[in-house]
Amino acid sequence: MDQELRELYQQVILDHNKTPRNFKKLEEANHFAEGFNPLCGDHIDIYVLVDENNMIKEVSFQGSGCAISKSSASLMTTIVKGKKIEEAEEIFDKFQKLVTGVEISEAEMEQLGKLAIFQGVKEFPARVKCASLAWHTLNAALKNEEQSITTE
Ligand code: ZN
Repeated sequence: MDQELRELYQQVILDHNKTPRNFKKLEEANHFAEGFNPLCGDHIDIYVLVDENNMIKEVSFQGSGCAISKSSASLMTTIVKGKKIEEAEEIFDKFQKLVTGVEISEAEMEQLGKLAIFQGVKEFPARVKCASLAWHTLNAALKNEEQSITTE
């Protein structure tokens, strides 16, 4: 990871950890899932309000965990809000490739936008689960009304 990206990574993690976006319970949510990462102790609840056009109208999270899991969840909510479910799934797929070190194209990288900063976690296998917990949980929430998932 180059110097510029590393600094940006630290900035974004610190910022979203200190001031998480959409950090609340969403009363009107119609999808919900709970995610656990026992390896690190991260626990995240994801609330989603999907409208009749399969668009993610609102998304929020609650929970506790390390700075990476929290900032990843926070950043995720800002990115998928207003997107169609299929688009969110596409982004998740690319994000998963990025953090696990699968080669992705320039165009795919562009689609990830700010999420590109998480590419550094691929060097730390234990951190991959922290970074992807919120995405796995979102995925579970979108597919089912209610369920609990764990990264183990
Ligand atoms: Zn963690």
